[in-house]
Amino acid sequence: MAAAAELGGRRHRPENFLVESAHTWREPASRALARQASRQVKPAYPKAANGFCTQIDEDGRSLHVKSVDRIHMNPQNRRKLAGRVIKAAEAALAAKNYVSPVDVLVGIGWLDSAVLKHWQQGQVDYLERVVQTNLSRISEAMKLFRSWAAAKGLVPKETHYIARTPRRQTLRFSKRGGPTIEPLCRTHWLSGELPKSKRERLAEKASAPELVVIHPLNSAWTCHRCGGTGNLLVMENPGPACMRCVGLDDLEFLSAGNALLTRRAKAKSARHAVVVRFSKSRGRYERQGLLIEPQALAEAQRNLAQQAVMSVGKGETYG
Ligand SMILES: [Zn+2]
Repeated sequence: MAAAAELGGRRHRPENFLVESAHTWREPASRALARQASRQVKPAYPKAANGFCTQIDEDGRSLHVKSVDRIHMNPQNRRKLAGRVIKAAEAALAAKNYVSPVDVLVGIGWLDSAVLKHWQQGQVDYLERVVQTNLSRISEAMKLFRSWAAAKGLVPKETHYIARTPRRQTLRFSKRGGPTIEPLCRTHWLSGELPKSKRERLAEKASAPELVVIHPLNSAWTCHRCGGTGNLLVMENPGPACMRCVGLDDLEFLSAGNALLTRRAKAKSARHAVVVRFSKSRGRYERQGLLIEPQALAEAQRNLAQQAVMSVGKGETYG
């Protein structure tokens, strides 16, 4: 209370001290104290949802300032991250002639490839959920990746990410699935040295991960869903599933061999699956053909037949 007596230059009873400090003191030192007291009561930086917050200045005017808890990466960490991003991107580009945001996330160790597989199989609702770092670091890494890719003259190509399930739903990257972030995540950067046709094929291939159906060597298997069996199965996490249970039992088998017919029929079919069979002698799965929608197959066969007739008519051979 010695301080109060000094500041006021008057005698104060202890119980009046706080009341008087706010209302009656006129001296500069006491005004500073009162301001300090009012700051303790009212938070100076109320948070706003839009990333800005309102700060009241000393004259009582409100100012909009960028939220104070927005994270800025320091230049040293940013340089380190850039080094990791570029190393991962260069490796993917060298291996496949293109590089995707997912390749970078896996390459720098933020995304486990086994977990990525679960997402590709439609078992994780959005990828961000399983990336092992915070959003601002992901976004920083993606910015670094895009500027590296653009500076290197890579060609951006938006692709599609479709779940490797019979339903073939579109895979989501971000929690909200926003119209800006999703296309950026789906964009692959292709080597500018490749001819355009090769780039198109690469993007198409990456876009459509194929659903694999197995023609098992051993016919003694049981569907984990219905207890039935069949001559084809889809491997799911709990075990093999039959064509009826995965909704592919209406598809027709087109054996491999006619590349043109396969390509045309596939293009017309909303659903398709690759049929593979294990080769004991070669120690790997080999492609047997395609399961395809019967009407797509019929249409493709009709079109090819018509084309053949027309080219014969013009004196051309169709190969
Ligand atoms: Zn079944």
